[in-house]
Amino acid sequence: MINVTKTYLPDIEEYQSYVKGIWDRVQLTNNGPLVKELEAKLRDYLGVKHCLFVSNGTIAIQIALKVLGISKEVITTPFSYCATSHSVIWENCTPVFADVSPKDLCIDPARVEAAITENTQAILATHVYGNACDVEALARIGEKYKIKVIYDGAHCYGADLGGKALLSYGDISTCSFHATKVFHTTEGGAIITDNDDVAWLIDRYRSFGHIADNYLTIGINGKNSEFHAAMGLCVLPDVPEIIRSRKEISELYDRLLPFGEKLGSPEWKADLVRNYAYYPVFFESEEALLKTKANLEAHDIFPRRYFYPSLSTLPFVQKESNCPVSDDFALRALSLPLFYDLAHDDVEKISRIVSDSIL
Ligand SMILES: *Cc1c(COP(=O)(O)O)cnc(C)c1O
Repeated sequence: MINVTKTYLPDIEEYQSYVKGIWDRVQLTNNGPLVKELEAKLRDYLGVKHCLFVSNGTIAIQIALKVLGISKEVITTPFSYCATSHSVIWENCTPVFADVSPKDLCIDPARVEAAITENTQAILATHVYGNACDVEALARIGEKYKIKVIYDGAHCYGADLGGKALLSYGDISTCSFHATKVFHTTEGGAIITDNDDVAWLIDRYRSFGHIADNYLTIGINGKNSEFHAAMGLCVLPDVPEIIRSRKEISELYDRLLPFGEKLGSPEWKADLVRNYAYYPVFFESEEALLKTKANLEAHDIFPRRYFYPSLSTLPFVQKESNCPVSDDFALRALSLPLFYDLAHDDVEKISRIVSDSIL
C-alpha cells in the first residue's frame, strides 16, 4: 500500500538514548532541557529571535490570534486545511474569506485589500504546499491598514524565500510539526516571531497564563513534552536528506507526468527554495480527478484531495462567500504520494496510471 505520505522515523537507538536521559532527569515536560535545546536549534536554523515549541500547529494559530489581541474579523484563505479557519472561529473571531490566485492557490492580495472593513484586525494566510504567499504585498497591506499579518506556515518548514526562512515572515508565523509534515515531532508545532514582547506573552499563554507563582491572564495548555522534543532532535539533522530525496522524487514526477491541457501544477515563486512538502496536480475536472483517484486506489495507491472541500463552502464556517477560484480548484486538486523513501519504480507506476486515466 502506498499512501500520500509516510512518517519519517529516525534511528530508534538515538531516540532511546534521549529517552534514557528523560528517565535519568525525571523531567517529562514543563519546559525541560530537550524542549529548550530544540527551540534553540530551530531559532538558529530559521534565523529568528523566538521560536516557541507548542503542542500542535492548530493551537499555535489560536495562541497567535490571542496574543495579538484579535477578536473581530480575520481575512483568511479558503484554500487550506480546516485548521486555519477553525482556529479563527474557535477564538471567536469572524473569518472573512478572500479568494486565492489561480497560479499558486495562495491568498490573492487584491482580494484581501477588497475585503478590508473597519472591523478587520488581521490577515491569516497559508503558504500553500510550501509555496510562498506574496509576502511583500501582504506586508504593505498590513502597514497601510494597521492590521497584523499572520502566516499559517504548517507546510513550509525547510523552505526559504529571498534568502531567509519562509517561516520568518509576518508579525507571527506558525508551523506544524505533525507526523505527516516534512519535519515532525510526532505531534507539535511552533510560533515564530522577532518581537520580544509578543514572544514573552506567547510563553505565558501556552502555559495557563502563569507568571511565576501567579497568573497574568487566562492561558491555555499549549506546552509540549520532552518526548516530542526528543523526536524533533532526532529528525532535525536528517531534514536536508529528507528534502533532497523528496526533490528527486518530485523532479521524476515532473518528467513523467503528462502536463498540459489536462493536467496542471502550481507556479512556484521564483525566489523560493522549495521544501517539496507535497506533490499537487490539478485535473481538468472533478470527474477526471475521481476517475484517476479510483484507478490509483485499485492499485492500493492512496493520494489525498488537498485541499477539499474549499473552506468557504463549509456551512458552519461561513454563510456566504465569493471564492470561485478556491471552490473550483478544491474540486480538481490532488496530492500524489511523496515521501523520503518512495521508490522510483512506484513514481513511474503512479505516473503511468495518471497518464492512462486522463489521456
Ligand atoms: C497540518 C496543518 C495544520 C494543523 O497542524 P496540526 O499540528 O495538525 O494541528 C494547520 N494548517 C495547515 C495548512 C496544515 O496543513
